[in-house]
Amino acid sequence: MLAPPWLESLLSASFFTVCPTHSDTPRSECNMFCLDCNKDAFCIYCRSSRHQDHSVIQIRRSSYHDVVRVSEIQKVLDISGVQTYVINSARVLFLNERPQLKAPTGKAVSHLCKICGRSLLDPYRFCSLGCKLEGVKRNGDAIKKEEEEEEEEEEEGGSYEGSQREIVQDTPPSPPRHTNSRRRKGIPQRAPLGS
Ligand SMILES: [Zn+2]
Ligand SMILES: [Zn+2]
Ligand SMILES: [Zn+2]
Repeated sequence: MLAPPWLESLLSASFFTVCPTHSDTPRSECNMFCLDCNKDAFCIYCRSSRHQDHSVIQIRRSSYHDVVRVSEIQKVLDISGVQTYVINSARVLFLNERPQLKAPTGKAVSHLCKICGRSLLDPYRFCSLGCKLEGVKRNGDAIKKEEEEEEEEEEEGGSYEGSQREIVQDTPPSPPRHTNSRRRKGIPQRAPLGS
């Protein structure tokens, strides 16, 4: 499996709804997601009562969009290639792609999300986790957190220094040789199929 089973639930869950169990408490908004239970979002009271020893990540909001802190998500997911932002002095990334108000102008936009085409600030490949998951599905890259693999990029080619070739033009051009390319003598007539 390329993506952990909880990822799609996380991306499709709705957060910041009022917890039905704890609606009479001040902090009852559901902004937690449990990777072990892999179910709906829940509130901080649910967490302490039902998910105490589970892997829980907290969802935050930025301009009405769900974000997660890089420090939390990178422990469980390979987030390479996803655009991150610093919001309230914490580095975060968006869960899902955001609807774009403006169509990309095409000028001076050098980095675009591979999936939704949103312009990115830096040479990232995806605007959000959702777009990365989509890219994973299309290309088969893994998004699961794995042991770090050191990949050494082999540099090919190199310098041409010291390999200056002398072009010798003295030799007389060799007499034109008959090309050995086989010429087909016309196209063989195919016997008509059938009758
Ligand atoms: Zn609750
Ligand atoms: Zn749980
Ligand atoms: Zn995107």
